[in-house]
Amino acid sequence: MRLALLLGCLLLAPPMHAAEILLVNGRLWTGDERQPQASAIAVRDGRIVAVGDDAVVAATVSETAVRIDLGGRRVVPGINDAHVHLGTSPPSTQLDLPFPESTSDQLVAALQAQPADGEGWITGDIGGAIWTDPGWHQARLDALHPTRPVQLQMFTGHGLLLNSVAQRELGLDPAIAVPGGWYGKGADGAFDGRVYEYAHWRILAQLPPHPDAEELQSIQRYSQATLKWGTTTLQVMPWMPPERFVGLWIDAGARSRLRLIRFPTPASHDEPVVTDTLVKHPADAPRITVSGTKWIIDGTPVDQAAPLRAPYPDTGGNGRLNFDQAQIEALLREILARGDQVLLHVGGDVAAIAIMDAMEAIAPPAQWREHRLRFEHGDGLTPDLLARAASFGIVVVQNPSHFAVPEAHPFSALVRARGFSPLSGLLDAGLPLALGSDGPPNPWLNLMFATTPSTRPDQALTREQALRAYTRGSAYAESTEHEKGKLVAGYLADFAVLSQDVLDPELPAQALPGTRSLLTVIDGEIAWRDPEF
Ligand SMILES: [Zn+2]
Repeated sequence: MRLALLLGCLLLAPPMHAAEILLVNGRLWTGDERQPQASAIAVRDGRIVAVGDDAVVAATVSETAVRIDLGGRRVVPGINDAHVHLGTSPPSTQLDLPFPESTSDQLVAALQAQPADGEGWITGDIGGAIWTDPGWHQARLDALHPTRPVQLQMFTGHGLLLNSVAQRELGLDPAIAVPGGWYGKGADGAFDGRVYEYAHWRILAQLPPHPDAEELQSIQRYSQATLKWGTTTLQVMPWMPPERFVGLWIDAGARSRLRLIRFPTPASHDEPVVTDTLVKHPADAPRITVSGTKWIIDGTPVDQAAPLRAPYPDTGGNGRLNFDQAQIEALLREILARGDQVLLHVGGDVAAIAIMDAMEAIAPPAQWREHRLRFEHGDGLTPDLLARAASFGIVVVQNPSHFAVPEAHPFSALVRARGFSPLSGLLDAGLPLALGSDGPPNPWLNLMFATTPSTRPDQALTREQALRAYTRGSAYAESTEHEKGKLVAGYLADFAVLSQDVLDPELPAQALPGTRSLLTVIDGEIAWRDPEF
């Protein structure tokens, strides 16, 4: 991997190591109720040694400490992004389609704009309108493109619509069952070109891997971009085997902390559930932790594959769970037997209930509270389910960008009518809340979405609540809250000095996404410093 190492050197400036750092004259939001505000922080050997007034903190460091005047700037604990997907997608001709939804006419026009006798794959993102329209099927795509492979992907990442050439090229046989997934059928009972859930991700897992150099660049870019926003921890569910991802991460020389979450995408229908042998703390990589196993229990209410207690209002669709009750229980028991944390994608209310039923069958709620089972998204946690979820101590990882769906989208009407996608209601019900991007990685854009959630304005968080969820909440969601997510003596020295005060009520919400980190410290190392600062 020599090429990789060379690329790493070109892209990343050498880190600055200092045994001691003293920062004074700042405005610290510590996340600690006992001392919420402070002006100075001192760091030694990767840990915070003092937080408080300038004079008191300055007295704790030696003459040789690196001294930084913060000029009154806001300092926050490092952002901990609890839900990240990384991995490049295959090169292809992307159709020019509006995001997130296109009409039938727009899709026809975009497909016709591609030469039928051209080369290579035609791909594009579609929304729920096309996905749930029975008028769109394999035969219709074949009529438009009989010789080129066409692959339309739901923008949620939860489904593919293929023409016959694409189906052949992918070697897809709908007669072979895939656990956790299924194939769509038209009115005539034949395969309609739709590939659902794990049947879709199995295809991804079987594609030839991208070259290491491309993946390394993608990791380096992501890590570097997020350091510049003040993100210090990334909890990643990669679209590749975890062993490979850890190797790439180490070779990439990325400085962010990585929590790698196992995300099994079965490569064949008879593969054992979990097959990797990664240790929790890979040798010589102190910022990497491997823990947690994520399974996707249902689709999303956008693709209408997530089952709901009452049918979808516009199509009457019912959706279905990826796994039946016995399988869900078996998945939970398997993860628990390995002493691992359980992370489950929950889109609809039926999945939320099925999981809680499985939990109840396995252990009483008090025992579950120690396990910190996670609901990723937790959109289906309707008001009537919150108390039960709280009794199990379920940690909800919400994704603020999911609240930014346009007003006119059917999803917006659905979540309001059914009380889906809770946010402040989770805190009110006593549920632990963490935030993850699962989309645009800018935490300050996500802070804007979390404090002005357009699909659920009544569920807005205050900026402090959102910041707490993005730091201490995300640390709790990975069981590191004893050393991460607060600016307290003894904690890891992970924090960011911001270009503007995100907690200043005078700063309008629309200005939040423009926030940058001037100085990002991880483990006491200056991982990013703005040349102007
Ligand atoms: Zn996700």
